[in-house]
Amino acid sequence: MPADPAPPPPRDAPRADAAPPDLGAAFDWLDAAHNARLHAGLRRTLRPRSASCELLDLASNDYLGLARHPLVTRAAAQAAHRWGAGSTGSRLVTGSTELHATLEAELAAFCGFEAALVLSSGYAANLAAVTALTGPGTLVVSDAQNHASLIDGCRLSRAGKAVVAHADPAAVDAALSAHGGRALTVTDAVFSVDGDAAPLPALAAACRRHGAGLLVDDAHGLGVLGDGGRGTLAAAGLAGAPDTVATVTLSKSLGSQGGAVLGPARVIDHLVNTARTFIFDTGLAPAAAGAALAALRLLRREPERAARTREVAAALHHRLTAAGLAAVRPDAAVVAVRAPSPDAAVRWAADCRAAGLLVGCFRPPSVPDGVSRVRLTARADLTDTQLRAAVRILTGTAPRG
Ligand code: PMP
Repeated sequence: MPADPAPPPPRDAPRADAAPPDLGAAFDWLDAAHNARLHAGLRRTLRPRSASCELLDLASNDYLGLARHPLVTRAAAQAAHRWGAGSTGSRLVTGSTELHATLEAELAAFCGFEAALVLSSGYAANLAAVTALTGPGTLVVSDAQNHASLIDGCRLSRAGKAVVAHADPAAVDAALSAHGGRALTVTDAVFSVDGDAAPLPALAAACRRHGAGLLVDDAHGLGVLGDGGRGTLAAAGLAGAPDTVATVTLSKSLGSQGGAVLGPARVIDHLVNTARTFIFDTGLAPAAAGAALAALRLLRREPERAARTREVAAALHHRLTAAGLAAVRPDAAVVAVRAPSPDAAVRWAADCRAAGLLVGCFRPPSVPDGVSRVRLTARADLTDTQLRAAVRILTGTAPRG
């Protein structure tokens, strides 16, 4: 039988010798944005930490020094062996283990709330809490310096928004008064950039005058503020109040990963049923839940870690100010030091790194006021010798003028 003739090429098929289409052209527009960042000195790049070159760390959020504590890392490994590397599904399907339930119960009890719900990050916890507790026709009142995750929660919520001046209870009162209907005020407890604390009692009073709920992100307060590190809300006498909800991260003082919402049981039940970043997200990995639970238990046994972190922050601030640097007085573990320009902040952080000290560098667009900073975090496990070395490097490399 004769072979079938080859089918004719489709009429508009490219000729074999034609130049291939430039598929990269779809993203050519990125080059202008890249060049603009480069010229403004604002380009960010990743710098992986090396396991073999240990720098003195004043940049991480490991406030209590628990991320590498043997009891915490062992608990992570044991949880992975017992429950698997991943949680295998949404919390509502297969992703809830007894470990998650124990962590929720102990976290709620420690911080003084009726119930808790663990999510895969603090970011997801904030999106969950804001979107589940607001919506079209309600008002969300948000501090101008709130963390990006609260801001994104407000954007996703489709609620009316009032962004009010930083740490200004009178502005919150006025916004709630002008609205008159159902409302939620959202604020960081400790602000990430300057490390200053929100005026929680006055904010709560303003909310109560108008029957509004209060949502406080205690990412930087848990483990550092309050009796034994029970958090900023416990310190302010607001933990467990029926009109108050808190979010926390498990990734800072607890040295792990994940986040949680803490509040009245009916709020937590509502989140389980409606919060999209809870329902449509895979449950927190068992290793992260196990590590966070071990860290929480350690903190309960060693409450002095919280006070030590605050002492280290105060000592850092005192020594840097005495050396003439523009350090902001810290309310928790974060100590911000202002730099004259983004370039100066980047150079300062790079010079510190070259001298063996790891510090954070915050600059636009991550700072609310356009002022660049070198950002330091106090850790409970920093020795006095390390503290002195850090201050020596910071002052020796500080921008002049
Ligand atoms: N809120 C604040 C105030 C934070 O600083 C952070 C972490 N940068 C988050 C929320 C997000 O927490 P996570 O890293 O667990 O997503």
